[in-house]
Amino acid sequence: MYPHLFKPLDLGFTTLPNRVLMGSMHTGLEEKKDDLRALAAYFAARARGGAGLMVTGGIAPNRQGWLAPFGAKMTSGGEVRKHRNVTQAVHDEGGKICMQILHAGRYGMHPFLVAPSAIKAPISPFKPWKMSGRLIRATIHDFADAAARAREAGYDGVEIMGSEGYLINQFIAPRTNHRMDEWGGSFDNRIRFPLEIMQKVREKAGKDFIVIFRVSMLDLVEEGSTWEEVEALALAIEAAGATMINTGIGWHEARVPTIATLVPRGAYAWVTKRLMGKLRIPLIATNRINTPEKAEELLREGFADMISMARPFLADPDFMVKAKTQRADEINTCIACNQACLDHIFRGRTASCLVNPRACREWELPSAELSSSVHRRPSTVGRPPSTVKKVAVVGAGPAGLSASTELAALGHEVHLFEASAEIGGQFNLAKRIPGKEEFYETLRYFRKMLDKNGVKVHLNTRVTAEMLQSQGFEKVVLATGIKPRTPRIEGIEHPKVLSYLEVLQGQKQVGAQVAIIGAGGIGFDVAAYLTHEHGEQPSVAHYQQEWGIDPTYTQRGGVARPAAEPPKRQIWLLQRSKGKVGEKLGKTTGWAHRLGLKARNVQMWNEVEYRRIDDEGLHIAIQGQEQCLPVDHVIVCAGQEPLRELQEPLEAMGIPVQLIGGAKEAGELDAKRAIAEGWEVAKGL
Ligand code: FAD
Ligand code: NAP
Ligand code: SF4
Repeated sequence: MYPHLFKPLDLGFTTLPNRVLMGSMHTGLEEKKDDLRALAAYFAARARGGAGLMVTGGIAPNRQGWLAPFGAKMTSGGEVRKHRNVTQAVHDEGGKICMQILHAGRYGMHPFLVAPSAIKAPISPFKPWKMSGRLIRATIHDFADAAARAREAGYDGVEIMGSEGYLINQFIAPRTNHRMDEWGGSFDNRIRFPLEIMQKVREKAGKDFIVIFRVSMLDLVEEGSTWEEVEALALAIEAAGATMINTGIGWHEARVPTIATLVPRGAYAWVTKRLMGKLRIPLIATNRINTPEKAEELLREGFADMISMARPFLADPDFMVKAKTQRADEINTCIACNQACLDHIFRGRTASCLVNPRACREWELPSAELSSSVHRRPSTVGRPPSTVKKVAVVGAGPAGLSASTELAALGHEVHLFEASAEIGGQFNLAKRIPGKEEFYETLRYFRKMLDKNGVKVHLNTRVTAEMLQSQGFEKVVLATGIKPRTPRIEGIEHPKVLSYLEVLQGQKQVGAQVAIIGAGGIGFDVAAYLTHEHGEQPSVAHYQQEWGIDPTYTQRGGVARPAAEPPKRQIWLLQRSKGKVGEKLGKTTGWAHRLGLKARNVQMWNEVEYRRIDDEGLHIAIQGQEQCLPVDHVIVCAGQEPLRELQEPLEAMGIPVQLIGGAKEAGELDAKRAIAEGWEVAKGL
């Protein structure tokens, strides 16, 4: 089905079985004090799942290059020994793996950070020390030593991280390199550092060793590289001995979302394509490619020789095996939410995945469970009949879907009851938000898994305790979700007050002037919904225009002036608390949501006291100043409360009940917790 995807790639001294690279992702397992066994199990699962080649998270070549204090590095024999656990596990599964060498430069989150010039990064609290010529030479040798040690540890190659605004990129771009010695000033001087690294790495690691160089092909910051410089650098890197060139998009400090769910699929493949035909070595395209169809299309149409996907392998380690065996509809698709991967990493936690809570916990799991997504069993097969339980799961939101598919995969007889006509719960609202269309994929995945595992699904069935009792269930899992909170505000019954449910389900027309009470995730999503046109998938051109990406590459860094659509409505997004509006949104995506709404003129106000709602509008006070917002509608997005009315009667009947998702706790609820709790139920039964 995917002839280009599964075409082997001959690198001369070795051949890769397919055209997919599992791109580098820091998981937090790199720093675990367990001899890297958890990391080994994580990679082994993905090698078993068919990734052609994998790259580890960033490993520093020396202490100054640490991303954070005591981060992973490759500087000693002890570290070589620990990494052998990883390479051995991968090779045992028939896979191949490269170690990424990453020097953070001014992005390091520690006080000893260094950079070509002493210019503080906007995303770091520390100012870097300017590197001396001697330190620059020593650092080049540290890169080469790290590559040699990687080889000794059994790696098939290394990836040199030259993009995303890290140290090498800091030398290349005039934005961060203000030196006037042999390492700065002219283009030739600015690329001396990456070229010498590439040459020394090749010299020390040997010819038959994969060296991928990640070139920043589109910096997305002012004073970044020009396209001519990118092309010249790529040619020079090839001449210096690289095996392949991977694409880097956007510095971490760029104010352009490059991997969030609002970025259209394959939105950056055009950048790699500009370089196709100019080099002899293979080129790798990256960013927001998450399905085998998209990867195949890009390869077929000559955008790249190979495709890098990172988060899609967190979401589903068996991505490639499923694609190869005509089971692409069973792939658990990465929805690019960042909620359990990047947001965890930036908060110092181990990564996982919203749609796959097993991710990064492979070491703890029995191997049967690890591979259960490949070897799902239909209900009751393979389990002694005496241990099969008859379980009712009430509510087919993310929590109920997760619990019922997992329980059925373990061989239990599972009945899933859903009051509405479709599965999905609140995901059926989320999928309507512009830029959140990926939620359809999660529903497609669960639909397939319900079918495959033999879950008996009863739609349009609002169950009662009596119904459940009469059918003889041994256990009931209550996943009935939430009910929206109605705040106590005078006039809350006024006809101009709408709930977010009425708005997102399209039950009510919304006027031109709108106030939104509550600026949590749902308040932001409702504001996005009301300021966008509906029914169209956002196009790449539209996204580029909105976020200021210049496809003609006229300016350095490929940046242009953002030009959002004129807003359809005037919206006020309000919260009572102090602090930034939307402060609790995702760490790595909240800023983009705020910027997106700001560009559409949405007024985001905090410290609001709600007085009353009447024919005039919404009366509020801010720091004692009274005013009336003359709005046509007030939309309530003021949080939620658990819906668990079945708990008491069921318990009174002596039926064991377990609460999960919103039914258990509505505060701080999100789909990550809901899906993980569904999985935990199955483990516990
Ligand atoms: P729900 O999804 O509420 O599902 C409960 C289900 O139970 C419903 O289908 C309901 O019909 C059914 N039910 C209730 N009572 C009965 C009964 N007696 N019998 C039968 N069925 C019954 N979360 C994120 O993590 N990331 C996001 O980006 C995100 N975006 C969102 C955007 C919007 C617009 C909304 C509304 C929510 C969003 N969420 C997001 C929140 C996420 O969808 C919820 O946290 C999640 O759906 C909660 O799952 P749940 O299974 O506990 O409950
Ligand atoms: P939420 O994030 O808890 O936000 C509720 C908002 O309502 C807050 O702004 C709160 O702020 C306000 N509020 C609370 N009680 C109020 C009251 N009595 N009167 C007036 N205002 C009140 O909840 P949500 O927006 O309903 O979202 C539900 C869950 O879905 C969240 O936990 C979220 O994680 C998840 N979600 C996530 C995303 C995402 O993109 N990651 C998107 C949508 C939803 P003040 O108290 O300051 O007024
Ligand atoms: Fe993808 Fe979200 Fe999972 Fe990260 S947490 S891998 S972005 S689905």
